[in-house]
Amino acid sequence: MKSVRVAVVGAGVVGFSTAVCIAEALPSCSVTVLAEKFSPDTTSDVAAGIVFATAFPDIPLERQRRWFKDSFDHLLALAQSEEAPEAGVMMSSGYQIFREPPADKNPLWSEFAIGFREMSDSELKRFPEHTFGQALTTVKCECSIYLPWLEKRFRKAGGKVEQRKINSLQELSSSFDIIVNCSGLGSRSLVGDSAVYPVRGQVFKVEAPWLKHFIRDGDGMTYIYPGIHSVTVGGTRQQGDWRLHADRGDSEAILERCCRLEPSLRGARVLGERVGLRPGRKNPRVEREAVQLGGRRVPVVHNYGHGGWGVTLAWGTARDALGLVRQCLQEMPPRAKL
Ligand SMILES: Cc1cc2nc3c(=O)[nH]c(=O)nc-3n(C[C@H](O)[C@H](O)[C@H](O)COP(=O)(O)OP(=O)(O)OC[C@H]3O[C@@H](n4cnc5c(N)ncnc54)[C@H](O)[C@@H]3O)c2cc1C
Repeated sequence: MKSVRVAVVGAGVVGFSTAVCIAEALPSCSVTVLAEKFSPDTTSDVAAGIVFATAFPDIPLERQRRWFKDSFDHLLALAQSEEAPEAGVMMSSGYQIFREPPADKNPLWSEFAIGFREMSDSELKRFPEHTFGQALTTVKCECSIYLPWLEKRFRKAGGKVEQRKINSLQELSSSFDIIVNCSGLGSRSLVGDSAVYPVRGQVFKVEAPWLKHFIRDGDGMTYIYPGIHSVTVGGTRQQGDWRLHADRGDSEAILERCCRLEPSLRGARVLGERVGLRPGRKNPRVEREAVQLGGRRVPVVHNYGHGGWGVTLAWGTARDALGLVRQCLQEMPPRAKL
């Protein structure tokens, strides 16, 4: 019998990854995902979904490495399985290029990426404005395919789904024993965390099937990521900008920058433009607390604030969140665990 009721707020890549990890590992829990928006309308759906990362300042590097490795292993196994097309996950090779060599030439994820190496002079020749580069193979996870696949996996594990905006955690306190908050930027109002802020990203989807390799400028502002059905071309990183419509000036600047790196893009047919608001935060918040709700202390596990790396880190932080839910279960009075 399922006795512990767990609510996961959020149906983006972090919410569904967390919900799947809990539902599959803890059959004694009844898990419900509650969210205002589902795929294809989440920020996760806008992401290019390339598995890369930059380090967060205050999280121990070992923990960040584990997040990356757990995610990478999970996505790589999917990319190499027969489920790859249904899950929207593929391997992706290409270049990260820099105008000036970066201070850290071996980022924390470099030991996991496949074939990570410095680019040779002949490879760099086609990028005359850049003096240094890295060649590697990583994974690309397309959330508009991956999220429905995760939802299916979640339902198969007995999970339930409800579309609903939660205005306050109080609303959940009588129906659930543990609340897992994966509401991304929504945490700003849902749990009053003013440290979360939008980092606006605008991208094009174009048809350019001749492009097979990604190119990413190390400053994170310009990238070309070939995917399963289209190429994602971007981008912008505007902090504190809440605008959800495509900006014409941004569109022109993106095309100009990307065509300088890949001139053949001028002949590409534009399929669409999308804007998403990354849940920016100095460090992601993956921790638990007990919140006083309606006369009782309810365990709340937070998992949000992944900024520009939510697709990359979703599975790794989901596994941490599962560990935190396990701790909550251990501390619950015996009757609730029956
Ligand atoms: C242009 C762009 C490119 C990107 N490229 C990459 C990339 O290449 N690699 C990478 O790793 N990351 C990338 N990202 C970042 C990535 O998209 C985010 O880090 C990730 O989507 C965050 O996932 P999430 O599940 O936390 O948030 P979301 O996807 O925003 O999901 C939040 C969920 O919470 C729900 N919610 C919020 N508040 C409430 C509430 N009060 N009640 C009910 N439900 C609520 C929402 O409805 C939604 O379901 C990119 C982002 C953008 C915009």
